[in-house]
Amino acid sequence: MNPLLQPFDQAPFSKIKNEHFAPAIKQLIEDTKKEVNAIVENNDAPTFANTVEALENTGHQLDRATSIFFNLNSAETNEEIQKIAQELSPLLTEFGNDLLLNEALFKKVKTVYDTRDSYELTAEQKMLLDKQYKGFSRNGANLSEEKKIALRKIDTELSKLKLTFGENVLAETNAYQMHLTEESDLAGLPEGVKEAAAQTAKEKEKEGWVFTLDYPSYVPFMKYAENRALRKELSLAFGARAFQKNEHNNEQNVIDIVNLRHQRAALLGYESHAHFVLEERMAETPQKVQSFLNELLVKAKPAAQKEFDELEAFAKALDGIDQLQKWDSAFYAEKLKQQKFSLDDEKLKPYFKLENVINGVFTVANKLFGLEFEIDNTIEKYHEDVKTYRVTDAEGVLVAIFYADFHPRAGKRGGAWMTSYKPQQKFHGINDRPHISNVCNFTKPTASKPSLLTFNEVTTLFHEFGHGLHGMLANTTYKGLSGTNVYWDFVELPSQILENWCYEKETLELFATHYETGEVIPMELVKKIKESATFHEGMQTMRQLSFGLLDMSWHGSDPSNISEVKKFETEAFGDTTLYPETPETCMSTAFSHIFQGGYSAGYYSYKWAEVLDADAFAYFKQEGIFNKKVASKFKDTVLSQGGTVDPMELYKAFRGQEPNPDALLERAGLLVK
Ligand SMILES: [Zn+2]
Repeated sequence: MNPLLQPFDQAPFSKIKNEHFAPAIKQLIEDTKKEVNAIVENNDAPTFANTVEALENTGHQLDRATSIFFNLNSAETNEEIQKIAQELSPLLTEFGNDLLLNEALFKKVKTVYDTRDSYELTAEQKMLLDKQYKGFSRNGANLSEEKKIALRKIDTELSKLKLTFGENVLAETNAYQMHLTEESDLAGLPEGVKEAAAQTAKEKEKEGWVFTLDYPSYVPFMKYAENRALRKELSLAFGARAFQKNEHNNEQNVIDIVNLRHQRAALLGYESHAHFVLEERMAETPQKVQSFLNELLVKAKPAAQKEFDELEAFAKALDGIDQLQKWDSAFYAEKLKQQKFSLDDEKLKPYFKLENVINGVFTVANKLFGLEFEIDNTIEKYHEDVKTYRVTDAEGVLVAIFYADFHPRAGKRGGAWMTSYKPQQKFHGINDRPHISNVCNFTKPTASKPSLLTFNEVTTLFHEFGHGLHGMLANTTYKGLSGTNVYWDFVELPSQILENWCYEKETLELFATHYETGEVIPMELVKKIKESATFHEGMQTMRQLSFGLLDMSWHGSDPSNISEVKKFETEAFGDTTLYPETPETCMSTAFSHIFQGGYSAGYYSYKWAEVLDADAFAYFKQEGIFNKKVASKFKDTVLSQGGTVDPMELYKAFRGQEPNPDALLERAGLLVK
């Protein structure tokens, strides 16, 4: 018997074997197709209930099985699972595409959509209808046959171009190496970095040390290597990726991608690709994004210039540098930071024993939202490292199940993320509570030492737990609108806001105690953590804004007249540059976020989310960071609502006004007085 084909509540990990996945998921795709067909073949006039709600309620078991499968493929995979993923992914993509191309189904949804004012729908139902309808229409369902064919052609070409773009960046990253044979050239580098470079050399059957353009090699070299000429060489090689006169040049690909995106948007009736993308974002329009970025730029620029001048003076005093260059920034910034704060991870780690930090984040959730976390070993796990909790409210009612999987191992991908095994929804009169998971890669305990986290790992834990709360406290009717199913420039609010508690004395006193002596973290260290967190925030902000502005320039208007990538890019950067221009480098040709990944017309959302979390946290600061009233309001208006209401409305309901960027500028110390 295949356990994935039987009804289950908690994921039955002990019963599931790898060979169950493919047959179960294939079977469940067929079952879901039958459920969809039943909706299409229903002869009754289409209504919200028999069409939109019915469609939302298809594929329950398929969702459960696929979420188990893909969660494991990220957190506990092996070659067999990866092979099954290769087999299943195209089937699931095809299934999803077929659904969106199902004309008979769309006709029914459209009928309901066009007559929506004649129904009495709740706000949530209106959102569900809108989301479903747009899923079809944004994919071309309203187009004539001829235009549909044109759209498919663009989609095919775009997916090929994006792939080629990424392959070129990868090829160029891999093609370069800096081979050093003189130990004196390594001056300044930490031992671990030297060892890694020696190891890379060995792998390439070379003597000495090899540095590459991969981040773990590139970043420390730029930060610590004293040899300025070598830093310049490596920096220019990094910046010239896919911008050299060879077969991996991406200039034409950039031009083609933005033009195809524009044509696609135009076919669907939008003014630009950015207009198309932003329709489903809190920011709504390119104009709003532009003015958001420009407003921050005007305010951040004086601070950035001040930091730059200070850094340049520092480099001059130290090494007689007259003009600070791009390849100097990380190096002197690191030295200046050490001089100012002399704060390193090793000093802080004893105060951040993993178990203490977990208790800390649970205590914060308890003080804010009244949640209780209790280990429950009857809940099945997929690996012995996973901790399983029952989460209850103040009345003892089950809120969620929480899986915490914190240590790296072979079979887990890098990074940290939140995911779910079961969505929250109200179904047949039952409020079905969610099963949420946090997966991280924190330092493991050793025989002599417990797991001690860096401060960065502490904020990561709070961040992912914030996403976790968004999932756990969800309280909506439809699973498609539940928890983190929100516009993506809104989804980082719950996670980023929680990070703020890590910097507060009141919070640190709750859990940051020395693992050997029990001493609470000294306030002098807390002060340094706070100050160093905003070190060079002005320049960082300018950098982020420059990427956001470049992204919007590429995607915010008709690109058909752009012929020179570098020239266009330099103009787009405009007022955001501090360092001298380097003609041999180009950002766009290796800007994978927007040309390969999904961030096109979305890069601004990093800063957008920061504005939201800073502004929202300012409210907590004003009323007390553990103020129950503000916390309940945050739960009721944001955390529990998912995507049932427009995010700006949710935000205003919480804050009483639209987000104000001044809170971010103030937190970042950017308000030059
Ligand atoms: Zn996040």
